[in-house]
Amino acid sequence: MLAESLNSAKTRNTPGLADEEKAWRALDEVLRRLVGHLCVAARGQSTQLDAQLGRVASALRRRAPAVEVEGLFGDLHRAIVALDEVPPGTTRAVPASPFATAAGYLVRLLDRLAFDHRLGPKVDEIKSSLASAATDLAVAEAIERVAELVNEQLQSFQRDRGEVERTLAQVNHQLDEVAAYLLGEDADRDAALRSGQEMAGQVGAELQELGASVQRATELESLRRDVVSRTSAIHRHMLDFRERESSRLAAYQERAERMRARIGELERETKTLQESLHREKRLSATDALTGIPNRLAWDERIAHEYARWKRFGRPMCLVAWDIDRFKAINDGYGHAAGDKVLYVVAQHLQRGVREIDFVARYGGEEFAMLLLGTLPEDALKVCNGLRERIARLNFHYRQKPIPVTLSCGIAAFREDDTPDTVFERADLAMYRAKHEGRNACVLA
Ligand code: GH3
Ligand code: MG
Ligand code: MG
Repeated sequence: MLAESLNSAKTRNTPGLADEEKAWRALDEVLRRLVGHLCVAARGQSTQLDAQLGRVASALRRRAPAVEVEGLFGDLHRAIVALDEVPPGTTRAVPASPFATAAGYLVRLLDRLAFDHRLGPKVDEIKSSLASAATDLAVAEAIERVAELVNEQLQSFQRDRGEVERTLAQVNHQLDEVAAYLLGEDADRDAALRSGQEMAGQVGAELQELGASVQRATELESLRRDVVSRTSAIHRHMLDFRERESSRLAAYQERAERMRARIGELERETKTLQESLHREKRLSATDALTGIPNRLAWDERIAHEYARWKRFGRPMCLVAWDIDRFKAINDGYGHAAGDKVLYVVAQHLQRGVREIDFVARYGGEEFAMLLLGTLPEDALKVCNGLRERIARLNFHYRQKPIPVTLSCGIAAFREDDTPDTVFERADLAMYRAKHEGRNACVLA
């Protein structure tokens, strides 16, 4: 419509002023709308620029006179120039490309999945390829590899389960043998009791008969014969009994020996099983890259400490740490340098707090910390100390200095809090630290 009006104004032989004015008004309208759209599209690069864009858009909406709109251009120009000014020691953030965003999500997913430590090198390989993924194909390939990794993890779980099941079946079998032995022991004891009773009965009967013979006896010779025959019968019963007992004893000793060996084996197997379960548990709760507790361990620990806090109410603070401009470190010095930075930062964070406190790699370049029995002001002091120490680290990778700083948000547990609400507050405070220029700790 605009093109038509302009054209008709131009092509007519005697262009009337009214027509021309109409055409320019239409153009003015379209340009105002266009600038309005551009103001919206250009947002999100800096707070200073956003404020200026807002002012321009509002002046256009109000149909402010040209002189007022023109007056806004100076500040707008300065805000645009400021975008290119890079603070010393930092690299300008490049707006995330769709590939970088997808790659970032995948890296987060890999961190959350807490793969088996044996798959650590493969996870790292995928992360490196994601760091440079710049096409649909590269991201699709990485997704494919993540799917393969998940399959491998499943197979590894199945293998581990099979192994544990086999060991348990073996232990079960040995326990059956021990149970059968104990049952046999009972039967043996019963037989020994019966045999003893039998012998006591026989000896008792012989002695009774003997007593009766003595009473009945009228002559010494027949009494002597009777006594001899009865005592030799008693002797036979005793010998029978001893024989039965000694063969039972021999069988018992043999079985007991076998059982001792079996129980020894059982103990050794149980110990190995326990050790490997402990090792697996420790490894599954450890982040392969940094060697500190991972997200899984964090979830477990925070649930535990939260329950204790509810019960005892001792002050407790949660800190959300995030390495500043970490993407720039990866982009500028390589993924391997980024990994090294993660390792060193993790070690410093862990060594910088007390044994009872807890530090975990929460994901990517984010760390979470629990400071127990600590008031917010003290937590702020501890965190500022840590932050300053890391900023002074003078980190080098292949002889190149890499400036490494961190920002954090600190939130104290308050009444009616859940771990999630505290974490949210700490995270928001961390973002405030980022907005305030990074390398800062902010109390929520
Ligand atoms: P900000 O100061 O705002 O936190 O900027 P940033 O660059 O640190 O933040 P962003 O979240 O944009 O970048 C985080 C980067 O961390 C992107 C991701 O590729 C990288 N990353 C995540 N996990 C790893 C890892 O295990 N190793 C390496 N080298 N990089 C990782
Ligand atoms: Mg981050
Ligand atoms: Mg960061």
